[in-house]
Parts: sequence; C-alpha cells; structure tokens
Amino acid sequence: MQRRRPGESVVVLEREPEIARHQTGRNSGVIHQGVYYTPGSLKATLCRRGADLLYELCERRGIQVERCGKLIVATNERELRRLDELHRRGLENGVPGLRRLSSYELREIEPHAVGIAALHSPQTGIVDFSAVARALASEVSVHTGCVVERFDEEHGGVRVVHGDGETHARLAVACAGGWSHRLAVASGLDENPRIVPFRGGYHLLRPGRRELVRGLIYPVPDPELPFLGVHLTRRIDGEVLVGPSALLVGGLGWPGTWRVARKWWRVGIAELRAAASARAFAAEARRYVPELSRRDLLPGPSGVRAQAVARDGSLVDDFVFSRTEHTLHVRNAPSPGATSSLAIAEHVVNTLAAQ
Ligand SMILES: Cc1cc2nc3c(=O)[nH]c(=O)nc-3n(C[C@H](O)[C@H](O)[C@H](O)COP(=O)(O)OP(=O)(O)OC[C@H]3O[C@@H](n4cnc5c(N)ncnc54)[C@H](O)[C@@H]3O)c2cc1C
Repeated sequence: MQRRRPGESVVVLEREPEIARHQTGRNSGVIHQGVYYTPGSLKATLCRRGADLLYELCERRGIQVERCGKLIVATNERELRRLDELHRRGLENGVPGLRRLSSYELREIEPHAVGIAALHSPQTGIVDFSAVARALASEVSVHTGCVVERFDEEHGGVRVVHGDGETHARLAVACAGGWSHRLAVASGLDENPRIVPFRGGYHLLRPGRRELVRGLIYPVPDPELPFLGVHLTRRIDGEVLVGPSALLVGGLGWPGTWRVARKWWRVGIAELRAAASARAFAAEARRYVPELSRRDLLPGPSGVRAQAVARDGSLVDDFVFSRTEHTLHVRNAPSPGATSSLAIAEHVVNTLAAQ
C-alpha cells in the first residue's frame, strides 16, 4: 500500500510489545510451493506467487534462506493413490520441478527415509519468518503495544478505536490471526466463520541425530484431516523439528467447534497422546524414518494455529477475506499463510485499489 500510494501514510498497529510473537514467529518455517491445495483456490495461487516473491525479498534484503527441497513419502498402497492425486494437483498448480521418485530414488535425496514412492519438490525452502517480518517492519511505521478494539465506518473512511485512543484512516486492513473473528464481530461483521485455535507442539531432534534429515520429510496427509501430519523439518538455524501435533485448545462457545470435535474425536485422542508423549511422536515419524527413536527427541517449541471453522463444523480450507466499505478483514490465513504473505498483501491492495 505504501509503495502504490507513496503520498499517503501507512501505520501498523500491533498489540504485542514486538512483532511476530504469534503464528508468524512460531511456525515450521517452510516456504511451501503449493503441492496440496485445490487448483484455482486462493491458497494455490497465492502460495505460488507468494513463494516467488518471498525468495526475491530474501535475496534483496539478505535474509538467510535455503531451497533445501521436500519429500512427501508414501509408505503403503493406500498412500500411493493419494500421492498420485497430490502429484496431479501439484502439476496443475505449477509447482516447479515436482517429480515422482521410486523407493530407490528417494533414498538418494534423503538416505535415512524409507517408502515405496515419494514426491520431490526441489524448490521448497526454509526461512525464519520472524526475520522476514522484521525486514518488512523496517519499511513501515509500526506502533507496538496498541490493542485495536474495533473499526467504525464513518463518512469517507474509518475510525480505528484502540487502546491509545482513535485513529482516523481512509482504509483499514485487519490481519489479527487468532483474534480476527473478534475484531470482525466488534466491527459489525458476521460471526461466521470463527477462529478456533489448534495448538501445534513440536519436538526437536537431539544434536547428534540431526543428520537423519537433510531437508524436509513429510508423510502423505490424510485427506480427511486439515493438517499435514507429523513431519521432519530442518530449520534455518540447523535444528530439526518433529511435529507438529494438532490439538484443539479453545473456541468452545462456537457450535462448529463441537461438530469438529465430534468428527475428529478419534484423531484428537491420538493427538493428545502425541502431544504428551515423545514415544507416540517418534512412532509417527518412524513410519518413514525407521532409525528414529524416542530417545532422539527433545522437548521443542509450540505455536497456535488460527484455523477458521464454519458454524456447521466444517474447517474453512481456503483463505477468507471480508469487506466493508473502508475495511478489509483477513478472516482465515492458516498455513501456507506465511509463505503466501506477500501475495496476500498484493491481493488485499488490489482489492482495495478501486477506492
Ligand atoms: C504450528 C504452525 C506451523 C506453521 N507452519 C507454516 C509453514 O511452515 N509455512 C507457512 O507458510 N505457514 C505456516 N503456518 C501458518 C503461518 O504461520 C500463518 O499463516 C501466518 O503466520 C499468519 O500470519 P498472520 O499475520 O495472519 O497472523 P499472526 O502471525 O498470528 O499475527 C497476528 C498478529 O495480530 C496481532 N493482533 C491480534 N489482535 C490484535 C488487536 N486486536 N490489535 C492489534 N494487534 C492484534 C497479534 O499480536 C499478532 O502479532 C504455521 C502455523 C503454525 C501455528
């Protein structure tokens, strides 16, 4: 917005004492390439564009980034059929260099992984998204420690009511992550969809065992579930994350949450075990890296995913934006939201550009 309208001033109001304290600073750090998403969806298009813009930004600003590549490993016949579908989607989404590998070829990429076939995305990469956020923040004015309460439409613009008083603006964009539905509702928008928090807990591979993973190793996701399964992720600082779990941790006042809980109660219980026990986590990862044992895992970080759930209990898959005349609310921006962030910004600015 600042680049398109250099004559106008842009300010970011952030409730925390510093930026990237929420999802952006607590995620897996993967620059996705768009293998999984429904062709034509916002996730598919904004992830592809976002990944390219992000690599460009990292190069321009000297942010450490690595195209370490990613394997999605099938371990049985059922997963093989799903892998074929992912391959088809990935090609339709234009994932660069995406290739199907045999069980022999996959070991050339990841010598400790075992499976009957795999997909390889060589351009998938890793970055510290806090460093990306800091680089972006250095280009705009950021006012921290400022809790936005609501937006009130007024003649020709919007009144932003916040902890430090009021700001009058021509346009306002809300990107409040876990708080996005509250801000939307306080500003007079529909309650549906609502953010339901899912905790994602990780373990870390202990230092002597990090060589088990060269880049990123993922299982074939269960299409019935919203998340990608326990994966092994090399981080830009050299640590290897094992996880995350997906544990529903709130949103109990929303009918959709209970419908989700009923639908996935079995998984919820399995995830509860996984969250509590390194043994269950290691068992998941051992399906495709058999040498891994429980003793290789140390307690790791965690993050809370802001996932929108509709009133009927369906998890909202795509990115969702809602509008009033002078505001735009980002209502659902889960993974690959960090990868897509610069493309989401373009999308938001283009949507508002008409004004
Ligand atoms: C465990 C986990 C793993 C993930 N892995 C990946 C990955 O590998 N790759 C990827 O692309 N994506 C990943 N994601 C998703 C990605 O992190 C998110 O899509 C992205 O960070 C969302 O950014 P955001 O700015 O919308 O939200 P957030 O990063 O949550 O930021 C919201 C901000 O709004 C502020 N805020 C909230 N309410 C108010 C208010 N009322 N007033 C002022 N400020 C407010 C908060 O303080 C916060 O700074 C992962 C997410 C999680 C949780």
